[in-house]
Formats: sequence, C-alpha cells, structure tokens
Amino acid sequence: MIKEMSLVFGSKTKAQEIVFLLEDVKEIVRQGFYEEELDKVEKFCKEKGLFLVRSKFKVLLADETGYSNKGIRISEEDKRPGMHFVYISKDEEKAWLASYYELVGNDYDLGLLLGYPKCCADFFVKNFSVERYDLELKASNLFTNLSKRNDDCVLLSHFPCSSDCEESLGLGKKFLSVIRSVDKERAEEMENLLIEQINVGEDH
Ligand SMILES: [Zn+2]
Repeated sequence: MIKEMSLVFGSKTKAQEIVFLLEDVKEIVRQGFYEEELDKVEKFCKEKGLFLVRSKFKVLLADETGYSNKGIRISEEDKRPGMHFVYISKDEEKAWLASYYELVGNDYDLGLLLGYPKCCADFFVKNFSVERYDLELKASNLFTNLSKRNDDCVLLSHFPCSSDCEESLGLGKKFLSVIRSVDKERAEEMENLLIEQINVGEDH
C-alpha cells in the first residue's frame, strides 16, 4: 500500500505520513513538492477528503527531506525550480494555520501544530540556524533513528531533542504500529534497516 502511494507522493516517507493523516494519528503534515508533482498530490487529497494548502513562496532547500525548513525563499514567479510547501489535513483551518505560521517564521507554534513534542520544538528553536540545519543525534533505538532518512526510511518527521526523548519514542512506536497495520511488509523492511544502523554503530 505504501509503495503504491509513493508513486503519487514521490517517496515512501511522504506516503506514510498521508497514511498517518488518514488513520488519525497525525492531524496535519507538511511536505515539499515541485510544481510538476503537485497535480497528482492534489487529486489524491481531494479524493480522500484531505485539504491541501500551498505555500505562496517556493523554497530552494538545503536538505530535500523537509527536515530543514529554512532553505532560501523565492517568489512563486521565480523560474528556478523551488519546492512548494504544502500543508495537508482533514481540518482546513489547521492547514491554513500551518501555512501562516510558516510564512511568519513561527517555528515553535508550527512544530506544535505538526504534533511535535514541546521539548523537541524547543530544542529546534534554540539550536537550528542557517549554519546548523542538521540537528540529527546519534541513534540509540530504531524509533527515533533519523540516519536513514535520506534513504527514505524514517519514522519521525522532526528532530528529537534527544535520541531517548520519551515523547518522540512514543510517537515512533505508534507510527511503526500504524505502518504495520496497513503494510506489514514495509514495517518489517523499515525495522530491519533502522536496527541495522544502530547495530553498526555499536559494533566496535
Ligand atoms: Zn523531545
């Protein structure tokens, strides 16, 4: 199921977030798409009763996984191939609110609205900068492990304040169990990849 949806959304990670919306474990997600990808995505959302709000600006991202929300902002009319951020939710008001928070640079409230733990939203605001946009910490468990996010295998969509952050662990566990309920094969594939990485780290 996640693989089929990834044909619409461009990656399994993005597809899995849409599953979280549909299964009501997330209220809103933020994703980046290029112009040519948006038609498919908008059509899918409409069919599923999801509201999609598109950012008025485009972003030339430093890190295309969407973890870093501070690429260079360019106008919608700019010819360079920037990404649009879109905010997708069953609740139209929340989708607009997220787009507003992003527009005015309110990372903290945006993070909370996206369902990130308070401690992690705090951590992000205090530590993130243009020079330091990758806040990944050494993985200690598969649930908060971000090390495979560039290989399209990650459970969380935020930087945990610590690899053992309890709320992040709880989210990671919940997300994996939802993935398992809709796509057992994908859940196993993810578990194997995410564990492998931790074992590699411990093996001296
Ligand atoms: Zn935290």
